[in-house]
Amino acid sequence: MTDQSAVQDTAVQNAAPLLAVTDLTAGYGGPDVLQGISLVVGAGEVVAMLGPNGAGKTTLLRTLTGLLRSRSGSIVLAGREVAHLTPHRRARAGLGLVPESKGVFPALSVADNLRVNLPRRRSTEHVLELFPILRERLRQTAGTLSGGEQQMLGLARALLRDPTVLLLDEPSLGLAPRIVDLLFDTLGTIAAAGTTILIAEQNVTKALDLADRVYLIDRGRVSWTGSARDAVLDTHIADTYLGIADGDTPSRAPAASGSRVVPGPRPTDQSNED
Ligand code: ATP
Repeated sequence: MTDQSAVQDTAVQNAAPLLAVTDLTAGYGGPDVLQGISLVVGAGEVVAMLGPNGAGKTTLLRTLTGLLRSRSGSIVLAGREVAHLTPHRRARAGLGLVPESKGVFPALSVADNLRVNLPRRRSTEHVLELFPILRERLRQTAGTLSGGEQQMLGLARALLRDPTVLLLDEPSLGLAPRIVDLLFDTLGTIAAAGTTILIAEQNVTKALDLADRVYLIDRGRVSWTGSARDAVLDTHIADTYLGIADGDTPSRAPAASGSRVVPGPRPTDQSNED
């Protein structure tokens, strides 16, 4: 770890988190899918949630935004408890989700997608600068865009609302490698501009390149947390959970160690009937 990054890590740990999730439980009618998750995201941080299929990453993002009601625990955004708020009010409070499904209106044009629910005077110019392809497609129906273009439109829609924390669910899903590269370059630009990001992602290499810190989610619990550099260094995590093969190491410079979270009792049944 460089001296500078050590200073940054310490600063994030000392500052009050922008988003603090404590002992959150949620499910779909059956047993709890989220088994008491706690995590924090500092202002300006990029935090990645990694883990196997079905671990609960999407469920956590849905619970944070209120699309799924939490059963217990707390969600504090910028010092304010939001767990009791409706999804609409949480969005207004600053939780902006780009879901796996991209979050676009397929029957509307790109221009109309950008303007939906946007105050009349709010300019769309800065997101069109970020995603020049959208400027070329303004009159095109969103449903006819490529997967990558739809992902960018979903991101642009979320950014136009100036989210306090941008929540991204598997942004690389279904995209060609070249488009994934482009998308993560843009996410890097968005992060460098100071946007706070919590991202669930299966593309571990890309996620670790982008993120400052990592939470490994397994069966609805946090099983490990540490810096992205530590995740790369932890061979057990890399081999067992993250699928990092030799030669597929993220470019981030390695450093110290993260902390394994001692797992509590595991659910006997992870299936949930709604
Ligand atoms: P992936 O990386 O595959 O998207 P994930 O970590 O996002 O996985 P979730 O989609 O949150 O995992 O799923 C967690 C658990 O909740 C799984 O057992 C899943 O089958 C269950 N689940 C998800 N959505 C529903 C639903 N609508 N109704 C019932 N169970 C659900």
